[in-house]
Amino acid sequence: MTDIDKDQSAAMAQSKRIKRGRAYAESDEFGDYVSRMLEANPEMTITVLRKRFWSQHFLPGCHDKGVIEMNNMNEYQSAAMRTAKRINLEYDLNHAALGLAGEAGEFADCIKRHTIYGKPLDKINAVEEIGDLLWFCALACETLGVTLSQAAEQNLYKLSLRYPDMYTDELAAQRLDKSEAR
Ligand SMILES: [Mg+2]
Repeated sequence: MTDIDKDQSAAMAQSKRIKRGRAYAESDEFGDYVSRMLEANPEMTITVLRKRFWSQHFLPGCHDKGVIEMNNMNEYQSAAMRTAKRINLEYDLNHAALGLAGEAGEFADCIKRHTIYGKPLDKINAVEEIGDLLWFCALACETLGVTLSQAAEQNLYKLSLRYPDMYTDELAAQRLDKSEAR
């Protein structure tokens, strides 16, 4: 393989990776980021770039300290509880319930600004509010003595009873999980 062939094949590989980058984020912003980073360091993988992009755009300040890695929901629950003010069962439950209601309102407000007032969708803010909701879900689970994974599994189990194959409006009305196996 000549040097020109090598250059061409490297350029093709790079353009392929940039396309994959765009597909991951569905935005030109991420594609441009991948392109800039690969220019500086062609050895970087899309997985690493995706993590860095997210930590820079969605966890401002955190990228200076390294990428935060989360392998599962229970690790998130433990990490999130580091910043929870825990007093007693009643206080913690109220905190979780009011927090979930408040953050759900903030998420709805973010969407309202786009769908009702015609402003551009603020995806960063929407994702931030989802994260806030997750934090209060973690507090609720911790207070009730279960893990986020257990709550997620319970939810999937319920849905598997309600919709054995797939969602239909008829099955939604029947609510099979309430009449069987409970
Ligand atoms: Mg919020």
